[in-house]
Amino acid sequence: MRRGPPSVNPVLMPTMSSKAADAQAMNESATRPAAATTARRTTPTVRIGHVSVGSEHPIVVQSMTNTDTADARGTAQQVAELARAGSELVRITVNTLEAARAVPEIKRRLDMMSCDVPLIGDFHYNGHQLLQQVPECASILAKYRINPGNVGFGRKRDEQFATIIQLAMENDRPVRIGVNWGSLDAALLARLMDENAAQPEPADAGAVMREALIRSALDSARQAEDLGLAHDRIILSCKVSDVQDLIAVYRGLAGRCDYPLHLGLTEAGMGSKGIVSSTAAMAVLLQEGLGDTIRISLTPEPGQPRTDEVVVAQELLQSMGLRAFSPMVTACPGCGRTTSTFFQSLAQDVQQFVRQRMPEWKLQYEGVENLSLAVMGCVVNGPGESRQADIGISLPGTGEAPVAPVFIDGEKVATLRGEQLTKEFLDMIEGYVQRRYPGRGRVE
Ligand code: SF4
Repeated sequence: MRRGPPSVNPVLMPTMSSKAADAQAMNESATRPAAATTARRTTPTVRIGHVSVGSEHPIVVQSMTNTDTADARGTAQQVAELARAGSELVRITVNTLEAARAVPEIKRRLDMMSCDVPLIGDFHYNGHQLLQQVPECASILAKYRINPGNVGFGRKRDEQFATIIQLAMENDRPVRIGVNWGSLDAALLARLMDENAAQPEPADAGAVMREALIRSALDSARQAEDLGLAHDRIILSCKVSDVQDLIAVYRGLAGRCDYPLHLGLTEAGMGSKGIVSSTAAMAVLLQEGLGDTIRISLTPEPGQPRTDEVVVAQELLQSMGLRAFSPMVTACPGCGRTTSTFFQSLAQDVQQFVRQRMPEWKLQYEGVENLSLAVMGCVVNGPGESRQADIGISLPGTGEAPVAPVFIDGEKVATLRGEQLTKEFLDMIEGYVQRRYPGRGRVE
């Protein structure tokens, strides 16, 4: 629900009854931004293996491994983990001959694990050589990522770029032209800086840098098409590490082409900083209908799984109402009204239970990802929030009777108490899923 003040037209106010004015104000303030129906910017569809990217398709979540690709076993393991977590595309770096040669073995291992996630090869400097030297790598990878700033220098840049595009066409593979401000084409930037300096009123350096990012992506895309690559075999990205720059660059890029866009804040950082920066930038763009694939580039904290970036990307899309991946658990933050930590552990147990059951539920029950759950700390907001969820529980706050009412579809159906409370609530969730969602392919 929109939280801002109602935008009542003051000119109309004197002629309206106060009830009519209140009704108008309420209608206007209750108008919810149509996040789930925000018009996506229209793009062609780019096929990456069995995944389709573009405005006619759901926004795709992707991730990247941080293993040494030459270690086929370790890389296949991490690709499978990322795919199991929900990554629909996984990028691996292909930086050496050993890494390129490992790609067939990675694919073989993934096939053995029944993991068919499309693999994207990330190339810098020597992609033209590696793709030629290891044809099997070129045919197995579902897409090639090319960084125009790192393809080569001087005259060699165009030759090497053309070689990769030629190989993409021979293998019927799409490419992502992925510009990154850390490796921006230095010659292009210098040229634009000179042109800018010659203007009567030069723009600031930041604006020139943003223009260079956009121009690098668009010029490379045009060059790829001039070489014969089809328009619908190209995805663009222009990553920077500053939130406001990212928003400005993608708005500019989106207005000057119709290629699908891959969104990501590069070098977002660790933990909450990385999550907040990435979601702050991407939420604005997604709300404007921009972005066809996303990646959250988190630096994993020691001991934290690489799959966190997938979870955050899914939660971003789901919390904006753009996709549904997994049941959402609403939990209150707790306050002085509930000094016990029991409700925190229950919220965590419920979240873990859902994550653990979801792989099986997803196969068995259609629509289960839309399930909503609530775990609340006391009577103040507990019953109200629990009634809004499909299934919710309101735990007793300090001084309240030690009982926990459970609400299903808005109705109070049970009161739980005692040591078995967690188990009983989880059993109720399981039972609800089985009753509510139709079985996939089940014979009734
Ligand atoms: S529901 Fe109760 S415990 Fe939770 S934040 Fe609100 S007042 Fe505090």
